Amino acid sequence: MQEQLSILIQAQYPLIYLNTPEEERAERAIASIAELKPLRRLFVWTSTRGIVEQGQTSSQNSGAAQHNTESIQAALQWVIRADQKDPAIYIFKDAHPFFDHPVTVRCLRDAVANFKGTQKTIILMSPVQVIPIELEKEIVVLDFPLPDIKAIEEVLDQQLGQVRTKKVSAETREKLVRATLGLTQDEAEKVYRKAQVTNGKLTEEEVDIVLSEKQQLIRRNGILEYMEEDEDIDDVGGLEELKHWLQQRSNAFSQKARNYGLPQPKGMLILGVPGCGKSLIAKTTARLWSLPLIRLDMGRVYDGSTVGKSEANLRNALKVAESISPMILFIDELDKAFAGGAGSADSDAGTSSRIFGTFLTWMQEKKSPVFVMATANRIEKLPGEFLRKGRFDELFFVDLPNAEERRDIFGIHLRKRRPDLDRFDLEQLSKVSDGFSGAEIEQAVIAAMYEAFAQDREFTQLDIISAVKSTTPLSRTMTEQVAALRDWARMRARPAATSVAEYQRMEF
Ligand code: ATP
Repeated sequence: MQEQLSILIQAQYPLIYLNTPEEERAERAIASIAELKPLRRLFVWTSTRGIVEQGQTSSQNSGAAQHNTESIQAALQWVIRADQKDPAIYIFKDAHPFFDHPVTVRCLRDAVANFKGTQKTIILMSPVQVIPIELEKEIVVLDFPLPDIKAIEEVLDQQLGQVRTKKVSAETREKLVRATLGLTQDEAEKVYRKAQVTNGKLTEEEVDIVLSEKQQLIRRNGILEYMEEDEDIDDVGGLEELKHWLQQRSNAFSQKARNYGLPQPKGMLILGVPGCGKSLIAKTTARLWSLPLIRLDMGRVYDGSTVGKSEANLRNALKVAESISPMILFIDELDKAFAGGAGSADSDAGTSSRIFGTFLTWMQEKKSPVFVMATANRIEKLPGEFLRKGRFDELFFVDLPNAEERRDIFGIHLRKRRPDLDRFDLEQLSKVSDGFSGAEIEQAVIAAMYEAFAQDREFTQLDIISAVKSTTPLSRTMTEQVAALRDWARMRARPAATSVAEYQRMEF
C-alpha cells in the first residue's frame, strides 16, 4: 500500500482518501514518502490544532499551528492560498464529519483545481469512508492495511529487546507473530506488553496469553466474535452427506492441496429448518479443520450514526477476518442480515444495498483463506445473488431429522448427561418425537431432567416421553413455512442427510 500511495503522490494525484484507524502508523508511512525526491513538506490538519507543519524538512515554524486554521474551510483556504511553491503533502485527519457542508466540498474542489500541475497532494485520513458525491470522480480511495507479518515482527523485536529473555526460537517467534495478526500495531504492542508483564517473559508459553488478549480485543470491536468450538463432529446426529463433504475438505487449506492444484474452498450456505444443527455444524467444522471460528454479527455492522459507517464497519471486520486467516467466518441468518439486498424498498435500503454490495464484492474477490459458513432459515428473503452458482461452493439443505437421526440425536444428548444409555429405549423416543428438531429433542431431555430433579429423583424414559408430548414442535406451528422451504430446497440444494440424498438421487 505504501508503494501505491507513493506512486499516487509522485504521479501528482491531488486528492487521496486513506482509510485507516491507525493514524500514527499511516502518518509515519506518509512521512517516509515525503522524504523521497523531490522532498515534500508535510502538514497535518486536525480540528483541534489547525494546520501544523511536521518533520525535518519543515521551516522554523515547525510544530507551531498556523493561526486560525482550526476550521476546515479556513484550513483548506490557507492551503489553496499558500504561496509556497514547494512540493507538499497536506494530511487532513477526520475531515469526514465536515463534508455535509457545501463550502467544505467546494473548497476541496477548488484545491483539486488549484493543485493541477503542482507537486501538492491532500490526503483525507479517516477510519470511516465518507465521500461526498461531488468528489467521487476526483478522489482515489486507499485502504491502509493492518500490519503484515514483517511489521508485526518489528513490533515483537522491539518488545523482545526490552525483555531480558533468552533467545526465542524461529518457531516461537512465528507463533507469537501469527497470534497478533489482525491487530493494529498499537494493539499488538499492548498485547505483547501484557503477556510479558503477566509472566515476566515472552516465550512460547505466552502465546496463549497473546491469543486470549487478541480474542478480547476482537470481542471489543463488537462485530466479530470468537466462538468456542468444544463440540465434535460426533456430537452431530445425522447430516451424513454434509459431514462427509466437510471431512473430505479437512486439509483443503493446506499447501499440499494447493500443490495438488485444488482451489481454495470459498464457503458454504446451509439452509434449513430452525434448530436442526446449522450453528452446531459450524462449530464442529472449526474443530474438524483446526481453524478458528469467528462469528460476524451483521446486526452490529449497521450503524446509522454517520453515512458510510456501516460499510466501514463491514470492511474493517472483513479486513480483520482476512488477517487471521486461515479461518472460518460464520454468518448466522444470512437471510435476515441481507434482507434489504439490492432492490429493497426498506427505508434504509441505501445502506442495506451498499452493505450487500460490499459483501458480495468481497466474496467475489477474496484471495485469502477465509471460509464463509453462512446459514439461512428463509429463502424468500435471501437475495438471489447468494444462490448463484460459484458464490458458495455448496448449498446444503438441513431438514428435520428422520426417525433414525432422531434416535441418534437422543443418544447424543442422553450420553452427554448420563453414560448409562441402556435404560432408555431410543427407538421409542424417536417414534414419539416425529416432527421434532434437534434443538427440541435436546430441550425435551432437559425438561424431563428438571421435572425429575424437582421431585428429587432420577429422570426416566417416561419423563422424556411426557416432555415430548407436552411440546408442540415448530414444524407443526410453522407447517407452511417448513413445506415451502422443503419444496424450494428439493430442487436447488444438496440434502445434508444421506437418506434424503439417496431418495432424491432415485427420483431424478
Ligand atoms: P437456528 O436456525 O435457530 O439458529 P440451528 O439450525 O442453527 O438453529 P443449532 O443452534 O445448531 O440450530 O441447534 C441448537 C442446539 O440443538 C444445538 O446446540 C444442539 O445441542 C441441538 N441440535 C440441533 N441439531 C442437532 C443434531 N443434528 N445433532 C445433535 N444436536 C443437535
